[in-house]
Amino acid sequence: MSDKIIKTKEEWLQQLTPEQYAICREKGTERPFTGKYNNTDTAGTYVCACCGEELFTSDAKFNSSCGWPSFTKTAPGDTVEEHEDHTLGMWRTEVTCKRCDSHLGHVFNDGPPPTGLRYCINSASIKLVEKS
Ligand code: FE
Repeated sequence: MSDKIIKTKEEWLQQLTPEQYAICREKGTERPFTGKYNNTDTAGTYVCACCGEELFTSDAKFNSSCGWPSFTKTAPGDTVEEHEDHTLGMWRTEVTCKRCDSHLGHVFNDGPPPTGLRYCINSASIKLVEKS
């Protein structure tokens, strides 16, 4: 288990693009169908854009047509944390990076088998490390 990463606002602002900062550190959402990985099917591992932790793998990625990269499950290693989110008048489950608390997106119960889950993730929160 990796050690927790805690940085100041100034440090995150320096490290991240303004879009990444707004999404990852202030729980923003990128506009649908605009994210870098929305249509990607390249094999590899998606790591946290903030801290590099492995969060999702390409074999769990599916085409959900919802406008954001979608996964049926998280990567092995229990690196993603879930939180109840009642903002915007909705009952949703937010998912964050366990190591650095970055906001990733939300998980919904309308995914395909075998899990029935759809992890709906902002492209700005993740980075694809292609399989070599
Ligand atoms: Fe992280």
